[in-house]
Amino acid sequence: MPKKPNACEKPESSPDTKNMDTYQYHRPTSLAEALEARRQEPEARWLAGGTDLMVQLRNGRAGTPPALISLRHVPELKGIEDGERVRIGAAVTLGELALNESIGRRFPALHEAIAAVGSRQIRNVATLAGNLCNASPSADTAQALLVYGACLEISGPDGQREIVLKDFFTGPGSTKLQSGELVSAILLAKPPGNAGATFRRKARVAMDIATVSVAAYVEIEDGCITKVRASAGSVAPTPLRLTAVEELLMGQAPSQELLQSIRSLASESVSPITDIRASEGYRRRLTGVLLQRSFEALFDMQTAKGCTR
Ligand SMILES: Cc1cc2nc3c(=O)[nH]c(=O)nc-3n(C[C@H](O)[C@H](O)[C@H](O)COP(=O)(O)OP(=O)(O)OC[C@H]3O[C@@H](n4cnc5c(N)ncnc54)[C@H](O)[C@@H]3O)c2cc1C
Repeated sequence: MPKKPNACEKPESSPDTKNMDTYQYHRPTSLAEALEARRQEPEARWLAGGTDLMVQLRNGRAGTPPALISLRHVPELKGIEDGERVRIGAAVTLGELALNESIGRRFPALHEAIAAVGSRQIRNVATLAGNLCNASPSADTAQALLVYGACLEISGPDGQREIVLKDFFTGPGSTKLQSGELVSAILLAKPPGNAGATFRRKARVAMDIATVSVAAYVEIEDGCITKVRASAGSVAPTPLRLTAVEELLMGQAPSQELLQSIRSLASESVSPITDIRASEGYRRRLTGVLLQRSFEALFDMQTAKGCTR
């Protein structure tokens, strides 16, 4: 009789996977050293918290890179700087951000999105930059950062450049990062006092990735919407800005009719798939419902602040 697998036994390694101790491991202590290590090993992978990468290496979905370059001990990638813009270093963990009072007060939608990621254990090692660079269509923090108009600071062999987050994603697991480049920081403009933002998501069970997530941002002045952004996740190959919804709302006064239109337009603006988590139709409907509720809550909040007539 064939032997029954025992849960305690080590599984046989598949031909696609490597034992973790066979990877070369670099631990640079400066940005220059990190970039040089990557120049010497162009096929190496950046390693931040490892909550995506280590799983992918074990299941063979990350190929077999010759080396891992840790970003955790690079001082230029650490810390949250509060200057003209807020600069969040690429090695800052979601746990650090969750505890930062200024981030929670200024960027409530980001705070809500971070709280939705995995568990406290995951958030204590996972980074914001890693969530973006993994480029999953369901990356929760991407929706929030999209509505804040976030930019990414990118460092590479040719120096530094900036890219707007909405132009960063090119497909599932792929981004505009070029060979040898890394994201060194996330840059956020500080929203004015008349701004409001929120994040909502629905998942099947705790710790599951989002079936659908949305984020919404408005600025309202004298009863009219003067700035608006909307985004959705798990409903297209990349995290998505819903520009049709934004165009509909811009310059309008909040109303019940407008909220109804958000719902139908949001449902039409996405291109979800059917998978084990939900059907395409359910995801469309859910996007509309979650976004309508998000804007409804924001309009109520702005009325309470006295921004609406
Ligand atoms: C149990 C569990 C639950 C989870 N739940 C959620 C969830 O609810 N929502 C959600 O959105 N995610 C979830 N995740 C996914 C994961 O935790 C996040 O995507 C995390 O933020 C990734 O960050 P990291 O620092 O661990 O990245 P890593 O795993 O280290 O890296 C991820 C990818 O980004 C690259 N990378 C990392 N940093 C940089 C950089 N600075 N520049 C360039 N490339 C870089 C790496 O090479 C790798 O390809 C979950 C994961 C687990 C294991």
